Amino acid sequence: MTHPIPWHELEPGDHRICCPACGTKPRKKDMGVTILSHDHGIAHCFKCGLIVSKRDERELSDTERKAYKRRMDALRKQHDAEQRERQAQAAAEAGLRWLASAPVLDHPYLTAKGVKAHGLRVLDGVLLVPVRDSNGVLHSLQTIDRSGDKRFLFGGRVKGCYHSIGRPSGLIVIAEGYATASTIHEDAGSAVAVAFNSGNLLPVAKALRAKYPCIDLYIAADDDWTTPGNPGLTAATEAARAVGGLLMKPDFNGLQRGPKDSDFNDLKRLIQEKEASQ
Ligand SMILES: [Zn+2]
Repeated sequence: MTHPIPWHELEPGDHRICCPACGTKPRKKDMGVTILSHDHGIAHCFKCGLIVSKRDERELSDTERKAYKRRMDALRKQHDAEQRERQAQAAAEAGLRWLASAPVLDHPYLTAKGVKAHGLRVLDGVLLVPVRDSNGVLHSLQTIDRSGDKRFLFGGRVKGCYHSIGRPSGLIVIAEGYATASTIHEDAGSAVAVAFNSGNLLPVAKALRAKYPCIDLYIAADDDWTTPGNPGLTAATEAARAVGGLLMKPDFNGLQRGPKDSDFNDLKRLIQEKEASQ
């Protein structure tokens, strides 16, 4: 946990706060907190499931236990309703921007990454990557600006959603980022799915497994070799295992690898640089 629950700042009653475990922005109040008395409180994150309690030596009475459950259920309902509302707003916004957007001719980000536009649009100089569920419903957009800064529409659903490129024939490769997935699609010709981030590899793998029970799923890992715990490789390994898929890891052997070189797009760039220097 990056910070503890601020028990002492909360009055008896119900509160919503940013989760100390998974919260990244103060405005994302995914954690419900119920304070029964100054020595008794319980906190439950509706996003990551973290439960923390503050209690004195005394065991909770049945009445207190029931009160916690009732109030936490109410907080969860409120949280879920707000989330659905935000997701609906983001989906509507995504639809409007998509309609207003234009086909991509070229873009500095695509040039920098050495990949083409596959199913992208552009609006006000910003690339739009559609975030769709496995039925093709548009839920949100990932925006990529000229400098490569990537964002999602606020509150939009991403979990289990992806951007697919190419028609699957026997196999689909799932990768984190657009440039990585495009590199694999352009070089290997295979259908690819952009999962957007490592935490979404598993939900996307499951969504694709449900849609295509018999297809071969490959998970192309970002090898975050300089980040403790290697989140990219860890998540890719877990996703591959969960759906009976195959793990693909970029092999940087014999290349001048920099600390940020982690994915198949980086690998291709380094191979091209090496060939050009020979
Ligand atoms: Zn959390």
